[in-house]
Amino acid sequence: MLDILRRIVQEVSIATDLSHALRVVVARIREAMATEVCSVYLLDADSGRYVLMATEGLKQEAVGRVSLSSSQGLVGLVGSRAEPININDAPSHPKFHFLSETGEDPFQSFLGVPIIHNKRLMGVLVVQQRDSRQFDAGEEAFLVTMSAQLAGVIAHAEATGNILELSPAKTERKTTRFNGAPGAAGVGLGTGYVMMPAADLASVVDKQIDDIDAELERFECALEGARTEIRRLGAQLSSELRPEEMALFDVYINMLDDNALGAEVSARIRDGQWAPGALRQVVMQYVGHFQLMEDVYLRERATDILDLGARILAQLQGVGERSEDDIPDDCILVSEELTPGMLGEVPPNKLRGLVSVKGSSNSHVAILARAMGIPTVMGVVDLPYTQVNGKDLIVDGYRGLLISSPDQEIREQYQDIYEEELALQEDLEVLRDEPAVTTDGHRIPLWVNTGLLTDALRSLDRGAEGVGLYRTEVPFMMKDRFPSESEQQQIYRQQLEMFAPAPVTMRTLDVGGDKALTYFPINEANPFLGWRGVRVTLDHPEIFLVQVRAMMKASQGLNNLRIMLPMISSVNEVDEALHLIYRAHAEVIEEGFDVEMPQVGVMIEVPSAVFQIRDLGLRVDFLSVGSNDLTQYLLAVDRNNPRVAELYQAFHPAVLTALKLIADGAHEVGKPVSVCGELAGNPLGSVLLMAMGYDMLSMNATNLPKVKSIIRGVSREWAQRLLDQVMQIESAHVIAAMVQLALEKEGFGRIIGPASGRG
Ligand code: PEP
Ligand code: MG
Repeated sequence: MLDILRRIVQEVSIATDLSHALRVVVARIREAMATEVCSVYLLDADSGRYVLMATEGLKQEAVGRVSLSSSQGLVGLVGSRAEPININDAPSHPKFHFLSETGEDPFQSFLGVPIIHNKRLMGVLVVQQRDSRQFDAGEEAFLVTMSAQLAGVIAHAEATGNILELSPAKTERKTTRFNGAPGAAGVGLGTGYVMMPAADLASVVDKQIDDIDAELERFECALEGARTEIRRLGAQLSSELRPEEMALFDVYINMLDDNALGAEVSARIRDGQWAPGALRQVVMQYVGHFQLMEDVYLRERATDILDLGARILAQLQGVGERSEDDIPDDCILVSEELTPGMLGEVPPNKLRGLVSVKGSSNSHVAILARAMGIPTVMGVVDLPYTQVNGKDLIVDGYRGLLISSPDQEIREQYQDIYEEELALQEDLEVLRDEPAVTTDGHRIPLWVNTGLLTDALRSLDRGAEGVGLYRTEVPFMMKDRFPSESEQQQIYRQQLEMFAPAPVTMRTLDVGGDKALTYFPINEANPFLGWRGVRVTLDHPEIFLVQVRAMMKASQGLNNLRIMLPMISSVNEVDEALHLIYRAHAEVIEEGFDVEMPQVGVMIEVPSAVFQIRDLGLRVDFLSVGSNDLTQYLLAVDRNNPRVAELYQAFHPAVLTALKLIADGAHEVGKPVSVCGELAGNPLGSVLLMAMGYDMLSMNATNLPKVKSIIRGVSREWAQRLLDQVMQIESAHVIAAMVQLALEKEGFGRIIGPASGRG
């Protein structure tokens, strides 16, 4: 059976559309179970009826025409019970409903299983037989397994807008929704613009062409484009590379010349091969030669040739010469995997939203998008992204939802949300220089989270009083090698200067988990439980020391630096890190810099740290809760996995209890404690955290004015009463709803907006 199953799954996975997939399924199941009929009935959500969508054994004319109400027949019974029904005398069952159009009267045996995806009933899969036959437990299990597979296929097809129209009257495309993860809050309405990454040279196919002159000209243009690009890259990197590395750029340029690689490709084009094919042939031949060489240096040049080939191919495909005119004015940029480079290709005034099939809310593109305030949805795994170019799209960055071909009503709803958001932002501008102080005089500083220069600039605009989390991994991700000490010093100096005299909390490199550096790959089965954060940097003191030294040197004369350690799970890690930090300080002083020893803090984002909060607090100057990770580790829910996103509940009572324990524990040992996870910037979360006694909240710049407006509109006493009530509640959803309601009652409905309370 396993073999048959695998084969069917394989066939279904390459089916061109849902209708094809269903036909394959019914044919193969009928064959495998040696039965006479196999049919799929799908539930049409609009009419609430089961429609026969594919059959092998019943009349084909009935497909798409015959339907049953949700309570009719054995099919209806399977659906309502949501479990299999296996009987050998169907006509005598009280629920049996005869459908003459299908020609099914002679069938005695019936085995039906529900098709369910993510708790949602999608239809019923049925096999039937003329004789009285009792399908055995193995056959039932087989059909259940097939149905589970089919559910995924149908859900995907539905998500991709490929779902069959269940009634012939429906001709227009349905509004379709694709779930992903919220990347950056906000709503964007616009036109899909799909950006493809450069194709892999090795997968280019051969193709004969007729118009050789035109192809030669196309190749010549691509070569010129590649030359320009290489020169530009060389100029950009000239200050960072050694002369011998710079010489490589000249080698590249020379290779493109008429009598080298370029000439060979042209010769093949003259023989009738299209340019990409000719390029692949020549590049692969060169690579093959280099790879066989004894000399290690020359062997490594194979990579350079491949890189060169990829650049020319990109030019041939137009990737490098996308015209701005092609980009719609209301661009929703869609890609399989967005990169910051792609983002840079769209003029900011045209960019309405971002969608990435791969990646998570922590990908650097998402961080960049939050910094720029562009609504973003990440990890839209079911999106057939190649099909949405030019389509009407809505990006709902609050819920992590992409809507394709929205109907008029949905469009208007979102347009309202969009306009309301704009108006709100304008209205909140007046608070820029006002302090975040409650009506009963409690002051709670609001800081920002940054990673890029753009964040920092926007943060100042929005009245940030300091930086509570500077994610240093972001500049590391923008490079293709570890930045040197002086490069880091320069980057950190910019941040420190921009906010001085306000404090800037720099987190030491937090890679691993889902945050990868291309030049430092970490491959693990369980990356979130593996080598990440401080675990990596303590194993690589050379990386840690360089970074800390760069931070300290950058702070000379400003002395507004604070250093923060991520992913601390035991006191030993703090002791070890402190030892290195003191050493770095001594070295920096020895080098002649005049810097004070910065304050050092620990992030509380692992459950073990919650229970050792006092021991940790006693060792450092401050504590800051990384509620994103803390929630993921407390609830055992991968923060980036859309499949379990519903279980990632920021207002889970266990999370709130942990947060209260942290605040109390920190204060017991007299240490200030803040929150720098997303909860701090969530308007609902911010009031609870303030009530718990947190000394400071750090958030993305976009949400800061909203949080400030709420803090300034409530009393601390009110928030504490709300917290007392909330702490009695057992359900995250109820808690979120309660806080939402309480704030709405206080007149903050407008500020909270849609979906703030993803509980
Ligand atoms: C967190 O975990 O809450 C946090 C602030 O760090 P990051 O999101 O970068 O992991
Ligand atoms: Mg974290």
